[in-house]
Amino acid sequence: MLCAKCLKDKKNIEFSPGQRRLRGWKICKRCAADYQNEWRRNNPEKSWDTKRKSLLKNPKRLIAYQARLRSTQHNVPFSLTEYDFEIPEYCPVLGIELKHSEGRATDSSPSLDRIIPKMGYVPSNVRVISWRANRIKADGTAEEHDKIAAYMRKGVD
Ligand SMILES: [Zn+2]
Repeated sequence: MLCAKCLKDKKNIEFSPGQRRLRGWKICKRCAADYQNEWRRNNPEKSWDTKRKSLLKNPKRLIAYQARLRSTQHNVPFSLTEYDFEIPEYCPVLGIELKHSEGRATDSSPSLDRIIPKMGYVPSNVRVISWRANRIKADGTAEEHDKIAAYMRKGVD
């Protein structure tokens, strides 16, 4: 089969089955990869790797991005940009120092908390707390957390 780009006669396995056709012609895997690399070079801001690196360097952009993913999971509104919130030095709940880590989130990683969960990630409804505080808070109400605390204290008396 002839490749539409390099015009060389290539074996079938040198074409990927899902490859789109160009006027009935297919493009070989090698040329498709070249096209993709060229596209990445011409669109550096769109390539995932560049995006990932810029996210890891900018904690606010990263947590806004993660919040956008969660908003789809939880089916809640999202209208945040990295400029809509500040990361405090210490977690307002637990008092631990907030530290951005480039790998996995740790207890002290900053994370966006929805004050009223169902209102979603909108500028007036978020604040930054530690990942640990956010995890503990989860979707419990203040009353429920009071009860949990009372329960836990009763256990050690
Ligand atoms: Zn080719």
